[in-house]
Amino acid sequence: MKLILLGAPGAGKGTQAEVICKALNIPAISTGNIIREALAQGTEMGLKAKSFMDAGQLVPDDVVIGIIKERLAKDDCANGFILDGFPRTIPQAEALDAMGVIIDRVIDIEVPDEKIAARMSGRRVCKDCGSSYHLEYKAPKAEGICDACDGELIQRKDDAPETVLDRLAVYHKQTEPLKDFYSKKGILRIVEGQEEIADTSALTLKALED
Ligand code: AMP
Repeated sequence: MKLILLGAPGAGKGTQAEVICKALNIPAISTGNIIREALAQGTEMGLKAKSFMDAGQLVPDDVVIGIIKERLAKDDCANGFILDGFPRTIPQAEALDAMGVIIDRVIDIEVPDEKIAARMSGRRVCKDCGSSYHLEYKAPKAEGICDACDGELIQRKDDAPETVLDRLAVYHKQTEPLKDFYSKKGILRIVEGQEEIADTSALTLKALED
């Protein structure tokens, strides 16, 4: 199955991507994680993306389209994949179409803006492996330490409150039109984000069935 997870930053796409990844045994691909890894390794692409990312703006389409083309060509994508954070603009969605990628389902996780800012303040990521946590909803077993690799948990620079507002504005202007794009194709399903992650996961998995 080839899936796209849509939703505002902080809506819980990454967490739901992990849930589907385990349930269907297909890779979850996050362009945000790929860019952060490139940045940590100091590659040219990472450095090019840094200023956009830090400011809460989108990285240029040609850069992310290149990343996705390369990633989808890998063997583990043969039986399907979950795209988390891609596409984020209409030209990116058109590029997927142009690549001949047929998407089966697009799940849009809806969370009101007022709740997003509060959620983002509790978000933490592992400096080493990128696993994500939340102080309230998905706390690590030991404070400040990654369950998966013992790495240090940090707050992403672009999760700072003032940048979150910019990211939400970018989402509404550039990414939200994708709902209409995929609704017209008849493959969009809306999931209302719930207080409990497990409740959202149950709705997400159900949305894959119908
Ligand atoms: P995320 O981890 O998905 O919230 O992505 C973090 C940041 O990476 C975004 O705010 C953008 O600066 C950049 N980014 C990730 N995916 C994309 C994309 N599909 N298009 C443009 N920029 C992206």
